[in-house]
Amino acid sequence: MIDYIQPDYEVVRNKDLCIKCKVCVRQCANEVHQYDEKRDVLYADNSKCVNCHRCVTLCPAKALKIVKTDHCFKPSANYTTEIIKDIYRQADTGGVLLSSMGTPKDYPVYWDKMLINASQVTNPSIDPLREPMEIKTFLGRKPETVKYREDGSIEVEKFPNLELKTPIMFSAMSYGSISKNAHLSLARAAEQLGIFYNTGEGGLHEDLYKYSLNTIVQVASGRFGVHEDYLNAGQAIEIKIGQGAKPGIGGHLPGKKIGPEVSRTRMIPMGTDAISPAPHHDIYSIEDLRQLVFSLKEATNYKKPIIVKIAAVHNIAAIASGIARSGADIIAIDGIRGGTGAAPSRIRDNVGMPIELALAAVDTRLRDEGIRNNVGLVVAGSIRSSADVVKAIALGADAVYIGTPALLALGCHLCRSCHAGKCNWGIATQNPELVRRLNPDIGYKRLVNLVNAWSHEIMEMMGGMGINSIEALRGNRLMLRGIGLSEKELEILGIKHAGE
Ligand code: SF4
Ligand code: SF4
Repeated sequence: MIDYIQPDYEVVRNKDLCIKCKVCVRQCANEVHQYDEKRDVLYADNSKCVNCHRCVTLCPAKALKIVKTDHCFKPSANYTTEIIKDIYRQADTGGVLLSSMGTPKDYPVYWDKMLINASQVTNPSIDPLREPMEIKTFLGRKPETVKYREDGSIEVEKFPNLELKTPIMFSAMSYGSISKNAHLSLARAAEQLGIFYNTGEGGLHEDLYKYSLNTIVQVASGRFGVHEDYLNAGQAIEIKIGQGAKPGIGGHLPGKKIGPEVSRTRMIPMGTDAISPAPHHDIYSIEDLRQLVFSLKEATNYKKPIIVKIAAVHNIAAIASGIARSGADIIAIDGIRGGTGAAPSRIRDNVGMPIELALAAVDTRLRDEGIRNNVGLVVAGSIRSSADVVKAIALGADAVYIGTPALLALGCHLCRSCHAGKCNWGIATQNPELVRRLNPDIGYKRLVNLVNAWSHEIMEMMGGMGINSIEALRGNRLMLRGIGLSEKELEILGIKHAGE
């Protein structure tokens, strides 16, 4: 059969520098690097290279680089190289194209089109190194009123809330899609940081129950690994309706990733594909959702906040309004640029909307309806830096979920091949040889460093605005100005243009 598809990348080996140590041969799970003993020659099979940088990073002689091939088709803005190759692939296999991580498409990144305010002369800025700065965040339903009893004491109706030391949490990533060492790193980091990680839809490995004070457990349509102990192990339960990378469809974890431990944790047979249906088969309306919300509250004695996670889709404001009335305590919204372990490429790249627009639309709607305090609002889907966090909070979020930055901190090089299960960095794999490449003792420290660094930067930016509490930043859109945006975009974001 003719192979129509030429490699995307080329391995360039500097023969003057190479010491023939064969580290690259041993380290590449994709078997790109080969050694021919007879000829004493190292060579590369470029067609297998996913550009994960494992060999480049570990080559002791710094003799390697991976370059994008300059082999090309006749240039066309319409039939691009990617489109042509995808058609060849589908003509070969007849299958749906799968990909991993967030969409590479060039949709507007509104975070980069918003500028943060700073104080000058009046309303002076605050130095967070010398003055108190509060970034502790409570997530959940807030009391509407505070009453004073006759004796002067305060009466407040309390609802279960999550308490975060900083408004950042780790996104849902299931055991199965990522390795146990990756989960362990996230759990330990969450514990140290006083925040939460999220089990995703794969259940909770028995070794991770000890991190339950910093765990959010997820209930997705497949209900993998869901039982009473699991529900009670987390501090909050997240009902996953959808995710930004694949709105409207379910999940698929290939059978080759279902080894003995994943099988036990998910409560499914080894080697079988774990397929979560597109809808929850018991939810076809807000009333149905309300039933599940209250079933979960009942199962956990009304002590835990219930999160409902949805993908950012066109009617998001109305959907969020329904969820806020369903009894849910927190709404998590995931935008189109959100990462994933595996998604059909066409869905990932074409369905949904940027999280910035969704967040602004939802916050505005909930405020207009007077129900914003019914729920906490968490956003995800490409929160890449502390500046994105500050902008998200100023737009109306209470906190953010980060997924891709957390994986990058663990060593991910964004090769977008998680679905293949051969992650050379030990993250998106269940191969024991590869899993042990990720040392949780190092991994969790890198996560702690990342979130601490962002938290310091958040305080710096808040101080610059003359704001000393995250509560005063939340929904404070006056602290943002748009740059290069249309009137309509500014209207949806609810911000003025720079210069106004
Ligand atoms: S790891 Fe580097 S030095 Fe070692 S064989 Fe490969 S290219 Fe040569
Ligand atoms: S987790 Fe691993 S496979 Fe997935 S993008 Fe990162 S490096 Fe590649």
